[in-house]
Amino acid sequence: RSIESDEVVEIFTRFFEANDHLKIPGHSLAPDNDPSLLFINSGMAPMKKYFLGQEQPPLPRLCNVQRCIRTNDIEEVGDRHHLTYFEMLGSWSIGDYWKKTAIALAWELLTKGFGYPEDSLYATVYAGNAELGIPGDEDSVQYWKAVGMPDDHIVRLGDDNFWGPAGEFGPCGPCTEVFYDTGDAYGERYVPGGHFDDVNRYIEIWNAGVFMQFNKLPTGMSELDMKSVDTGAGLERMLMALNGYETVYETDLLKPLVDFVVDRVDSLDASSRSTLIVADHIRSVVGIVADGIVPSNSGAGYIPRRLIRRAIAAIHQAGTTDFDFAGMVQLAMDKAGSWNPQVQDNRAKVAEIFAKEQADFESVLEAGVRKLGDEFERLNGKMDGAEAFRFFSTYGLPVDTIRDYFVSRGGAFDGSGFDTAFAEHQEKSRNAKDDGSGGRARLDLSDYPATEFVGYSRLDAKGTIVGLF
Ligand code: ATP
Ligand code: MG
Ligand code: MG
Ligand code: MG
Repeated sequence: RSIESDEVVEIFTRFFEANDHLKIPGHSLAPDNDPSLLFINSGMAPMKKYFLGQEQPPLPRLCNVQRCIRTNDIEEVGDRHHLTYFEMLGSWSIGDYWKKTAIALAWELLTKGFGYPEDSLYATVYAGNAELGIPGDEDSVQYWKAVGMPDDHIVRLGDDNFWGPAGEFGPCGPCTEVFYDTGDAYGERYVPGGHFDDVNRYIEIWNAGVFMQFNKLPTGMSELDMKSVDTGAGLERMLMALNGYETVYETDLLKPLVDFVVDRVDSLDASSRSTLIVADHIRSVVGIVADGIVPSNSGAGYIPRRLIRRAIAAIHQAGTTDFDFAGMVQLAMDKAGSWNPQVQDNRAKVAEIFAKEQADFESVLEAGVRKLGDEFERLNGKMDGAEAFRFFSTYGLPVDTIRDYFVSRGGAFDGSGFDTAFAEHQEKSRNAKDDGSGGRARLDLSDYPATEFVGYSRLDAKGTIVGLF
């Protein structure tokens, strides 16, 4: 029997409520008063005010389900476990319990609540950083051992296991994460001292404790008076692990969307990258627009525009020009989790906004494809990367559409200069400065020109386009 999203949410919520946590609603994807974020990207993002002592929480123990958008994961979409939109199961101790209880709760929920076999779980802990004078988190090692995590399943790692601060200074600390072993088919078994494959074989399912222990000050690290714990688990990854699925796309939250595409586009199947991109992006757009973030050319609004265009171009490229996007948007709204009532409340608005964006882009797409014909003549069938970038930034056509047009007509496409032009552009557009938020990069999209389509492609060493469709 498979376990579905409602049941996982129910088990999670009941467990934390039984342990005196107050369930609070998820926050809108639009942050309030947080210029460092385009979107809420974790359960803790709207809680910062509590950790900083700026506001009192309703209770010191909280839990919820938080919809999240991670723009920095858009390029990962199509792997086993990264989505643009996902649901995070979160729990918090705000100045209440500390590491020992957090780890005991995590272990009990995983092994008893969800029934994970003990042998399938691994815990990572912070190894410390001598250079920065931050000690390793040996407390957490002891607490994992105490609850029964096998010794050789505890992995000490580097900076991935240190969180924050969310700006230059502020609360920060080590974190401990739980990984699920997806088996020999995906890589070598971890042996202590060896390599921990956290990309293929071991999938991160729960950041089971961000331990806000230090306050980073201009003068150095000091211990915080009020220590807090933040946890977050991806619902889609939990479902994937609990059901033994290969990817998050097999879960009840995504499979219907995958099937919708596969049933209607002859050239795509359930593992085609385009299928997965379209499923992820349509679901993301529904979540974003339902929270009142409208497609536009700058700021957060650029993200839904970008996602819609990429989905449409992917389908177009797959050879289907009359795809039922309206039907797919309806389906994505039907499948939105019951904990997200705002989607049902905004159905008409979401459908209307999507239809308008689609019409706008399809008109650009067609004009762009027509213009491509002229370019083909002008360039004698030979498009190079710099030309492609110019075309792409003028007409909004994704680079693969350009490449395929040339190649399928017996022309040539050399993408190598595209990479440079694109990187230069990105350098200008993206605020790549590390904001210390645990690698959650911010985007500054304010200077994108109106007709421009932001690319998603990268070129590998051989000049082949990767990372798109
Ligand atoms: P990863 O290393 O796999 O990118 P992360 O360390 O960036 O994940 P956290 O910031 O620790 O993730 O977020 C807490 C949890 O949220 C993760 O343990 C995972 O279960 C889930 N999660 C994070 N990013 C995604 C995503 N893009 N899609 C689905 N679930 C995610
Ligand atoms: Mg990540
Ligand atoms: Mg990680
Ligand atoms: Mg993590």
